[in-house]
Amino acid sequence: MLQQTTVAAVTPRFERFIARWPTVEALAAASDVDILGEWAGLGYYARARNLVACAREVARRGAFPATAAELRKLPGIGAYTAAAIAAIAFGEDAAAVDTNVERVISRLRGLEHEAKARIERLVLDVIPKGRAGDFAQAMMDFGATVCRARNPRCGACPLSRHCVAFKSGAPESFPAPKVRRPRPHKYGIAWWIERGGDVWLVRRPAKGMLGGMAALPGGDWTEALPPFSSDLGTVRHLFTHFSLDLAIVPRPEPVGEGWWHPIDGLAEAGLPTLYRRAAELALGATERLRAAA
Ligand code: SF4
Repeated sequence: MLQQTTVAAVTPRFERFIARWPTVEALAAASDVDILGEWAGLGYYARARNLVACAREVARRGAFPATAAELRKLPGIGAYTAAAIAAIAFGEDAAAVDTNVERVISRLRGLEHEAKARIERLVLDVIPKGRAGDFAQAMMDFGATVCRARNPRCGACPLSRHCVAFKSGAPESFPAPKVRRPRPHKYGIAWWIERGGDVWLVRRPAKGMLGGMAALPGGDWTEALPPFSSDLGTVRHLFTHFSLDLAIVPRPEPVGEGWWHPIDGLAEAGLPTLYRRAAELALGATERLRAAA
């Protein structure tokens, strides 16, 4: 849950999630719809889909694998997570290299553009044998609180005597900043279909953006402007790889496979933030239109 999401946003959601599914087996037996509904609003829904796929695989095996190499075979577990679990939970001397660790090692050694594999080897060289878990957690905290991306606290750093970046006088220039590609912009529509206090909702296809989530119906998101005016407003939303303008357009008849959901109960519909904001905008606009009529 903490990937790309703050501790403040995650804490109450994590506690609710763990209370509802306290074991791997309980999570493995839950329905995708319930899990995605519980995740609604946290974003990055691939995490929820991977989490349940992983729980089902662990339940099928009967236990978690105990090595980084085996953990990597589980859905949603990449090199960093596998190494962190193996080091912290199972005591394996594995190198857990996230952006914090990459930054600390790059600065200590004065590396501008080093391949991750080389950083992993450098980390493995300095892990105190048998204490990889403590080392991984210490490095995470050190990178987050002392050797920060901006304004590193070199004056308070116990490693400054050995640090090439500190000696250079410009520690922030290590590692060299990554070149960011401009984020493309897309357009889409969301149909607002209302009938007697209910609104028509659909489920998005299992694969792709917001896969499996409850949503307002609408077509694909493309780089071309949609041929509709956004009568009820437009929501601008930032995804990791693109930005989106979602025009909300009223429509009289239901479209696609879906269900009528009470407007009063939209908070429990499991809508992701994009569609929750679209629904709020549509409701505000329809109220204003009714008041003006
Ligand atoms: Fe990071 Fe500065 Fe310490 Fe070097 S001296 S490791 S740049 S905090």
